[in-house]
Amino acid sequence: MEDCIFCKIAVKETQAEIVYEDEQFIVFPDSNPKAPFHVLLIPKKHIPSLREVGEDDMELMGRLLLTAQKVAQENHLKGYKLAMHVGKEGGQEVDHLHLHLLAG
Ligand code: 5GP
Ligand code: ZN
Repeated sequence: MEDCIFCKIAVKETQAEIVYEDEQFIVFPDSNPKAPFHVLLIPKKHIPSLREVGEDDMELMGRLLLTAQKVAQENHLKGYKLAMHVGKEGGQEVDHLHLHLLAG
């Protein structure tokens, strides 16, 4: 996805401070944080939004939540909020599926 800013972060074409990374996911701080701790979790695979998620992505979506749990534990967060905007009308600005993890 040539014009996708999150794909560019995933392939390191655009620099971001990497909070967590594995084969499937990359986690980096939101450039306009809405909380003292605010990171974005993205699958490296380009999926525009939750609307395009199918049965084949069930494991990926489960792992996305476990990755959020892991990042929260690693950063000693006592409590946190997960949010996902879906579609323009749902407040989604970047068309690459991402989960917001906010705390503090
Ligand atoms: P959305 O509204 O699509 O759920 O959230 C997109 C989020 O991505 C926003 O909170 C925005 O601040 C963040 N964002 C947009 N462009 C960039 C970028 O180039 N780098 C980083 N780190 N965050 C971005
Ligand atoms: Zn993308």
